[in-house]
Amino acid sequence: MAMIISKPFLTVEQIQKRVKELAARISEDYEGKEILSVGILKGAFMFFADIVKVIQVPMTIDFLIVSSYAKMESTGEIKIHTDLREDIKGKDVLLIEDIVDTGFTLNHIRKLLLERQPASLKICTFLDKKPRRRVEVPLDYIGFEIPEDYVVGYGLDYENRFRNLPYIAIFKESK
Ligand code: 5GP
Repeated sequence: MAMIISKPFLTVEQIQKRVKELAARISEDYEGKEILSVGILKGAFMFFADIVKVIQVPMTIDFLIVSSYAKMESTGEIKIHTDLREDIKGKDVLLIEDIVDTGFTLNHIRKLLLERQPASLKICTFLDKKPRRRVEVPLDYIGFEIPEDYVVGYGLDYENRFRNLPYIAIFKESK
């Protein structure tokens, strides 16, 4: 079975430009506040590192490690591997995610975090595969809307590989 990776679908330059635009909006919206940025691992590690560097608002950071069981499809069954270490009560939490597909993962995480009574909870996702949404999740900041193809790179994987690519590529398996 061969794995085929397309040439960059989103280039390093496109990504960096968009990250700066999102960071500028976030900085404006949170002016005078302190953010607790929560990265959802592993997928969001690269986007998280890039965006926090250019957000001009004081912040603390924390991470959630989650996994959904299936290889390429989310099952709706989400496991929290490693929970937050910070108490989020009364804090302005910004969730930073790599990609929203069916919406199951973020919906689950969002409900879990809302129970802990943050002052506010906003969601920033690098990619949005809107056509595949099964459950609605309010997204406050979106990097790029993309079609239904499976993508890898810039933190996103196929079986834990390709995360280190600096750009986003379309992934296909051929028999
Ligand atoms: P959802 O629960 O919204 O269906 O899926 C979210 C999770 O599925 C993401 O955090 C990511 O781990 C994975 N995922 C969904 N679409 C893709 C994709 O195109 N490429 C990769 N690498 N992961 C994806």
